[in-house]
Amino acid sequence: HVSRPAEVEETRKDLPIVMMEQEIMEAINRHPAVIISGQTGCGKTTQVPQFLYEAGFGSKQFSSRSGIIGITQPRRVAVLATAKRVAFELGVRLGKEVGFQVRYDKKIGENSSIKFMTDGILLREIQNDFLLRRYSVIILDEAHERSLNTDILIGMLTRVIKIRQEYYEEQQKSLQSGGTVTSECQITPLKLILMSATLRVEDFVSGKRLFPNIPPLIEVPTRQYPVTIHFSRKTEIVDYIGQAYKKVMSIHKKLPQGGILVFVTGQREVDHLCEKLRKSSKELVVQAAKRDAYLKKKCDDGSFGGVDMKEIAEAFDDGSDNQNYRFSSHGEDPSEIGDGNYDDDFEEEDMYESDEDRDWETVDDGFASSFVEEGKFDALRAAFNGLADKNGSVSAEPTKTIAAENQEAEQVKNTFSPGKLRVLPLYAMLSPAAQLRVFEEFEKEERLVVVATNVAETSLTIPGIKYVVDTGRVKVKNYDSKTGMESYEVDWISQASASQRAGRAGRTGPGHCYRLYSSAVFSNIFEESSPPEITKVPVDGVVLLMKSMNIPKVENFPFPTPPELSAIREAERCLKALEALDSNGRLTPLGKAMSHYPMSPRHSRMLLTVIQMLKETRNYSRANLVLGYAVAAVAALSLPNPLIMEFEGEKKNESKDADKTVKQEDKQRRKDRKEKIKAARDRFSNPSSDALTVAYALHSFEVSENGMGFCEANGLHLKTMDEMSKLKDQLLRLVFSCCKPSETDDGFSWTHGTIQDVEKSWRITTSSSSKYPLLQNEEELLGEAICAGWADRVARKTRATEYQACAVQEPVFLHRWSSLINTAPELLVYSELLLTNRPYMHGATRVKPEWLVKHAKSLCVFSSPLKDPKPCYSSE
Ligand code: ADP
Ligand code: MG
Repeated sequence: HVSRPAEVEETRKDLPIVMMEQEIMEAINRHPAVIISGQTGCGKTTQVPQFLYEAGFGSKQFSSRSGIIGITQPRRVAVLATAKRVAFELGVRLGKEVGFQVRYDKKIGENSSIKFMTDGILLREIQNDFLLRRYSVIILDEAHERSLNTDILIGMLTRVIKIRQEYYEEQQKSLQSGGTVTSECQITPLKLILMSATLRVEDFVSGKRLFPNIPPLIEVPTRQYPVTIHFSRKTEIVDYIGQAYKKVMSIHKKLPQGGILVFVTGQREVDHLCEKLRKSSKELVVQAAKRDAYLKKKCDDGSFGGVDMKEIAEAFDDGSDNQNYRFSSHGEDPSEIGDGNYDDDFEEEDMYESDEDRDWETVDDGFASSFVEEGKFDALRAAFNGLADKNGSVSAEPTKTIAAENQEAEQVKNTFSPGKLRVLPLYAMLSPAAQLRVFEEFEKEERLVVVATNVAETSLTIPGIKYVVDTGRVKVKNYDSKTGMESYEVDWISQASASQRAGRAGRTGPGHCYRLYSSAVFSNIFEESSPPEITKVPVDGVVLLMKSMNIPKVENFPFPTPPELSAIREAERCLKALEALDSNGRLTPLGKAMSHYPMSPRHSRMLLTVIQMLKETRNYSRANLVLGYAVAAVAALSLPNPLIMEFEGEKKNESKDADKTVKQEDKQRRKDRKEKIKAARDRFSNPSSDALTVAYALHSFEVSENGMGFCEANGLHLKTMDEMSKLKDQLLRLVFSCCKPSETDDGFSWTHGTIQDVEKSWRITTSSSSKYPLLQNEEELLGEAICAGWADRVARKTRATEYQACAVQEPVFLHRWSSLINTAPELLVYSELLLTNRPYMHGATRVKPEWLVKHAKSLCVFSSPLKDPKPCYSSE
């Protein structure tokens, strides 16, 4: 029995999916797999688990449905927010009936019936129990996003439901013929539900690759209000953030109440735009109050008749502030300022431009001119705006009586002055509490502006959004499988994404979407939909996972969209280099051990090499410390460099800001910051390895009393350091849980000490923090392990900081923030090749030729001969 809070009952009534509960449950009862599609916000994520729960799934009372209800999300943000919401709707505490689990966080009880998790978590669970016996239903949410993990899960789960059905039938047969089955061995069929925000489901249902019987597709009609799309006439290529800023401000000043959702590409853009908007909001409020008071006074005085333009000008021309306000430094058309809210009886239709391909400005002009004809007060306002005109001449014929003017003045007082902006950021790396702020209540006078990355496209429905500002961009990671070169690029979104984004505006009423690109760009340049992740990323982890699950021929696995054969071959080559596969492509014991670690095979190879080598050493006394350090180094190599992040973040702001004073302040701040980072780099620097440098910084960070202060003082990126610290703890737990020494000791379990021993030695050495904790031979051990993990990413110096990397034609470079920059060793391995203005090696570690001989075997063949032949490492 479920008793929901009254307010929930009220809002649920309005969700279209609630009307379809019966139809959905019937389909689920009749079929092993069901696809549900419905626009974002229709209630899929929050309601379907509740339907199942109410139907007895996840309840001990029904033996056939006693397994729990699992729901996966591609994004951590969505897991937390929706679990919390569902618990609230069911009137229970989070962690009781409804729980969740993400990589760093978990709140789930023994008796939980509903479990929200990331797709990565379920993928790990399926590795340990392929039949997922704990579950009676699995919901794969946001299947349309085609995340790598969800795609793999879809393929696997189609097999799982088949096998569970077969087992179940066998059991029933044996029961009928008098056999017995203990309750632990009892198996029930599994239900699979795919949920999608789009109707593009053909990859899931075509060709019987996944499902022998095509599952029913249930479409949830959405009460989607019309959203008027406004294309920009021109497409600003570089400063789309500036455009977004302008658009938000002009919406705020002119258009009626309603939240604004802005789509940008990354955290830096979000923060930058938020800051700018907050600043403008403050200025606007001050100015509006001033003007209000002035106009009110004028009205009260009755001194309307002979308005002295100069007087008005002086009244507002009080220095830089005002300058900012009237002629915004961002080149805003001054005539835009302070319009809309004067007009009480505008016609909604006229206010917005509905003709797709017109420039907004045209409409704005028309809109502004409609004011001038009415009355003196408007004339005054027009005059005021007219101040900004170059010629400064506005004819304001006084036509109304003083009484009427006063009345209008009253109205103006009540309707004018665009309120404060409530500016909130939203991106994946934001702390959970900050993420949930978009759902909080706020004051009526405020206008909500959410500046978001792609997370707001489908995963979260933010209430009260009426306007969407779409930059049309998204940040994508491009990967060149041949060279291993990665680059983050800001790219155009797909047409499908664009319509998803626009849809966010029509949830609570008719809305408007302002696209900061032209319709020509939209139809000629945008792809129809974005390609599934699996076709874009290296699949070494996928292949290792498959091999460890006894799926020998990865190319035969039923992926919704299979990866390129060449990508599979490349992954196999890499896994052979890491000795996870033998020359016949079979999983080695090392590979098996690696597959237990939920991380890139390179990282697990490095960790396991450290463990192996430490077991071989005689000196056990410091082994726990070295292991702790190894784990920190893996954490360091898994995340962006916190030194570089901080620096680049500052640099980015520079080019964008046209404001002079801000620029100067910024300049000074940046300079200070740069100095700080330089000093920090020197302090933590390990000239033989970037990974060890960052590991040492992490070390110092963890024992510092005030993490935030420590990062501030040392120019480290706080969020990255926090994440790294958590990752390190988690990896350490993995080392001890993944390789239990008990059963089959495969040589990879840690027997020198306990997890507490490792943590203790880590803490002891840091407390005497001025001394560098590692000895030279220990550093070399870690260097060799890193070499083993990146054995195919070797580079040899050609001159200065220029290197030649195996299998890469063009020269590659040490990054100026690398700790190897001053020593520039002859040979090194790098963890990433990132193409910015030129290819930079990140995560570099000096290596010795003998390590290469040992670990890189015949892999390291340089693509072109050196100009100046040097004694060259040969693989033989
Ligand atoms: P879908 O999964 O179909 O996109 P959801 O189930 O996420 O839809 O959302 C249904 C409704 O519940 C939406 O109106 C949304 O705004 C609301 N909602 C979802 N999560 C929360 C939350 N954490 N707080 C408040 N409202 C929420
Ligand atoms: Mg959803």
